Amino acid sequence: MNAAIARVVADGPWILGPSVEAFESEFAAYLGANHVVGVGNGTDALAIAFTALDLPRGSGVLVAANEGGYAATAARLAGLVPVEVDVDEFTMVPTVEQAEAAASSAASATISALVVTHLHGEASDIRALDEWRRTRGFALIEDCAQAHGARLDGVHVGLSGDAATFSFYPTKNLGAIGDGGAIAFTDSSLAERARALRQYGWGERYRVEVAGGRNSRLDPLQAAVLSARLPFLDGRNTVRREISAAYRKAVVKSDARIHGNAETTVAHHSVIVTPQRDALAALLDSRGIQSAVHYPHTLSEMPGLEIAVGAEPSVAAGLRDRMLSLPSFPEMTDAEIAHVTDTLKEWANG
Ligand SMILES: *Cc1c(COP(=O)(O)O)cnc(C)c1O
Repeated sequence: MNAAIARVVADGPWILGPSVEAFESEFAAYLGANHVVGVGNGTDALAIAFTALDLPRGSGVLVAANEGGYAATAARLAGLVPVEVDVDEFTMVPTVEQAEAAASSAASATISALVVTHLHGEASDIRALDEWRRTRGFALIEDCAQAHGARLDGVHVGLSGDAATFSFYPTKNLGAIGDGGAIAFTDSSLAERARALRQYGWGERYRVEVAGGRNSRLDPLQAAVLSARLPFLDGRNTVRREISAAYRKAVVKSDARIHGNAETTVAHHSVIVTPQRDALAALLDSRGIQSAVHYPHTLSEMPGLEIAVGAEPSVAAGLRDRMLSLPSFPEMTDAEIAHVTDTLKEWANG
């Protein structure tokens, strides 16, 4: 990785150029996508995807109540109205019924798109949602910022929709050493629009040809880091999956569950769902084990999003109070993993 960085520093260019192009084609090949466009971060990836799709200004984008606010923020950046949708208790993504309820509610703007967030690293089965949104004529954007490398039936997430977005924030499954993001497309004209939009809307240099542009380019230093790390992604995901499986085994006798399933998750977060969430968090803390809640607020609880509430997100609100993300990093030592699993076993049997 240091050699790759040194090469970019010495040879340049320091904006776009061959290191960015190399990573884009490597990541596209890895995913099985036709095109990848590197951008500044995962939020811009979503916003640029919305703009590339040319969704009607002021139209509504369905976003899941538990998605943390990223897609909702990006919708606002693109001049769209985020509309909150509740999620299923077990899959943690919207069902067709929930999406339909939000889309047809009085509060909703005219809907033009649906965002599915593959949350916590789970490759969500979105076939029914995909079929539904096609019948309604909605665009589909898959937010894969927590699911690099996750596969369903051997196929990478992000290939069902019109665009798939990724973040390379350092803690993501594929992380840079700063900000970074990307958008994967099947359609070449959408990819071309996104390439223009990430650089002021330029078609020809110095000529703004596509409206709604910004400056959001993947940094070549970050691209070089990502190229160096991509070959290790699957191996690191396997370690995350094993950590998550060890936690699942530790609580098997309790009424708690570990979200996701062993084949389809890349365990970005190892999420435990239990009514005793706060007591468990306190016990872990007393043993020196850090945990976190992803996310502590549903979208309608965040005033800055000015969210349109499609239908009361009661399931997401219930989950919010019962979820806890356990330590889940490929760098964890066996002793650290054992310390967490021992503590979980003691809690589950106590
Ligand atoms: C991290 C994340 C983002 C935002 O990515 P940034 O690179 O921080 O802008 C978007 N969506 C999800 C689900 C994320 O986890």
